[in-house]
Amino acid sequence: MGKQKITAGIDIGGTNTVFGFIKENGDSLFSSSIPTNSNEDARKFIIRLTGEIKDSYKVYADNYTLTGIGIAAPSANHFNGTIETPSNLKWGKVNFVTMIKEYFEVPVAITNDANAAALGEYEFGLGKGLKNFIVITLGSGLGSGIIINGNLLYSESGLAGEFGHTIVKPNGRYCNCGRAGCLETYASANGIRRTVFDLIARYTQPSELRNISFNQMTGEIISDLAIKGDPIAIKAFHYTGEILGKALANLATSFVPEAIILFGGLVDSGELLLEPTRNHFENNLLNIHKGKVRILKSTIGNGMAAVLGASSLINKKINNNPIEFDISNNIEKNN
Ligand SMILES: [Zn+2]
Repeated sequence: MGKQKITAGIDIGGTNTVFGFIKENGDSLFSSSIPTNSNEDARKFIIRLTGEIKDSYKVYADNYTLTGIGIAAPSANHFNGTIETPSNLKWGKVNFVTMIKEYFEVPVAITNDANAAALGEYEFGLGKGLKNFIVITLGSGLGSGIIINGNLLYSESGLAGEFGHTIVKPNGRYCNCGRAGCLETYASANGIRRTVFDLIARYTQPSELRNISFNQMTGEIISDLAIKGDPIAIKAFHYTGEILGKALANLATSFVPEAIILFGGLVDSGELLLEPTRNHFENNLLNIHKGKVRILKSTIGNGMAAVLGASSLINKKINNNPIEFDISNNIEKNN
């Protein structure tokens, strides 16, 4: 019997990098993670990452063939293989695909992390069977992957779908992108922490959050305290949901998706965030769209949507088009 084909999917996050070997049917054969170490340069990171992948692959090499590597990363450009000055990492602009190919002789493709999450939902999650939907990732920032008429929206530059950097509050909070008032400074794990500190300063109510430093505070802590009835934590979720819901209503007015799928660490808070988000979303939708756009929580577990989506970049290419990823072959651009 011949070897089964697997692809490697890699999801580079600001804190951790998750990688896995994915079978052709989308089942995960193996997954693991390494710390991203945001202060390290890209070369050192790639040496660590490729070393881990090679070591892990040795265990499976007798029975499986690695057919390609798909990567999801912040500020990644699918068309030219670069990662350009990600705000959470100190890499500058690097051609990540070219660098990874120095260590593996297989096709390598990259896309923005939220785009990869959208591909993961499309092939294996709640997006199955949908032709028009949007995935919003709520991690340390806010990313978006937009699928319209069954195609991921890249646009000419490959950089479409930066919904987190739409300005929702003129002269609002400063953002890593250099501007002020971006959605992700409110609706993200970092955004809700900033909201908690604003609320602590504004209100006099007792709250356990007053005893926690900014760097120790996490979305999980805020959500646990909200469940226990902490008034500041509850207000923080209401405020975050209000801003997110209104922004998503604007997004839905432009794209009219069948569903908006929320994914990422902050979404683990469940209805605490989803309920106010849905209410403000529905109240701010155009009448003709009311009741027609679902806001859903991703069902793909353990943050694997981006890993699955990244791996499917390779399957698609190998199944549909044998041309190896290269700057000169903008395969999906020309479809
Ligand atoms: Zn911004």
